[in-house]
Amino acid sequence: MSDSIECIKCLIIGSGPAGYSAAIYAARADLKPVVYTGMEPGGQLTTTTEVDNYPGYPNGIDGPAMMMEFQQQAERFGTEVRIGMITEVELGKKPGDIHKACVDNAKWIEAETVIISTGATAKYLGLPSEQRLRGGGVSACAVCDGFFYKGQDVAIVGGGDTAAEEATYLANICRKVTMLVRRDEMRASKAMQHRVNACKNIDLRYNTEIDEVLGDQVVEGLRMVNNQTGEKETIAITGLFIAIGHKPNTDIFKGILDMDEAGYLITKGKSTKTNIPGVFAAGDVQDKEYRQAVTAAGTGCMAALDAERYLASLESSDVEDRAELKEGV
Ligand code: FAD
Ligand code: NAP
Repeated sequence: MSDSIECIKCLIIGSGPAGYSAAIYAARADLKPVVYTGMEPGGQLTTTTEVDNYPGYPNGIDGPAMMMEFQQQAERFGTEVRIGMITEVELGKKPGDIHKACVDNAKWIEAETVIISTGATAKYLGLPSEQRLRGGGVSACAVCDGFFYKGQDVAIVGGGDTAAEEATYLANICRKVTMLVRRDEMRASKAMQHRVNACKNIDLRYNTEIDEVLGDQVVEGLRMVNNQTGEKETIAITGLFIAIGHKPNTDIFKGILDMDEAGYLITKGKSTKTNIPGVFAAGDVQDKEYRQAVTAAGTGCMAALDAERYLASLESSDVEDRAELKEGV
């Protein structure tokens, strides 16, 4: 029985907008990419209903339907999509080294190039009422979903830069934004705090947490609690935005790839190159600033182009080496 390991040109880890965009470009460049989907085939957009801001869909599109179209487009050019989770990696160090990835703790696959597009996961509070109403008014992305609450009253939880930025974004769209900060000060930079304070329709509540999100099918209100006095207050809202941070899905790359203190992969300059030759990163896994489908897709395209150029540079240095050997240099 043969125990030879499959060796492919391009392994793509993750099946969100970044992974499938990388696959479309890699397949068209004849890199015969294989995509491993992970536990959330299609990525974060499969957890939302309407995507209204992705170019090319003038009437908006359902998130899961859009990701099916991404997959179909990648498959049309020969991408192989496999259900499976990459659970461990052994990455070569030098240009031309082969990289290894373990699928579902069971079998290993080898690849000349690897594109990491494992995304990031929004953190939630974990309250049962919050979880029940996810997609029914509870959202972790104000830029994505804020528009649906135009002229309405909403609330946002968090005191970091993301919460501050999203609160000011919502303040431009919504009638009133109640902002809940659990301590007596915000973590956000002073500049961001000034922006929040300058918005007349943001009602900033310090030392305040959520007791319960109210509503059956959709968000109808919020019961807040002051964590110093225990005093509770109920307000009517239609949307609740959770902005307490994201966790990049990079645990399997710890100690192998360069990452920042929060775990986001670090890429070089304007490229998608990581610190390991032949390994590239695209999408939310390397982007804590923008976190949009269109930006993830853009960097997915870049990663495939970077992978193609990397392989071409190996081939040309091979040719030069052989020419030098022939000439006895
Ligand atoms: P993701 O979409 O997060 O995909 C990551 C992929 O990696 C998944 O397929 C996962 O299964 C896989 N994966 C993870 N670990 C592994 C592993 N070890 N092995 C194999 N696979 C793995 N953006 C917009 O532009 N417009 C919107 O309207 C919008 N709405 C949103 C609504 C919600 C509720 C959320 C949460 C986000 C929304 N976003 C929106 C943001 C957008 O979804 C993300 O920016 C985008 O999906 C990031 O794409 P990505 O490919 O980098 O990662
Ligand atoms: P963050 O800095 O980690 O802030 C998270 C916020 O959520 C904190 O205020 C935290 O409170 C709060 N929080 C965490 N868990 C909570 C819970 N269970 N209940 C209530 N509140 C909770 O995350 P971030 O704001 O997403 O920012 C991440 C990084 O990106 C930061 O480095 C930030 O500077 C950067 N960023 C920069 C910009 C910008 O410069 N324009 C924009 C966005 C993000 P505590 O403070 O009490 O811990």
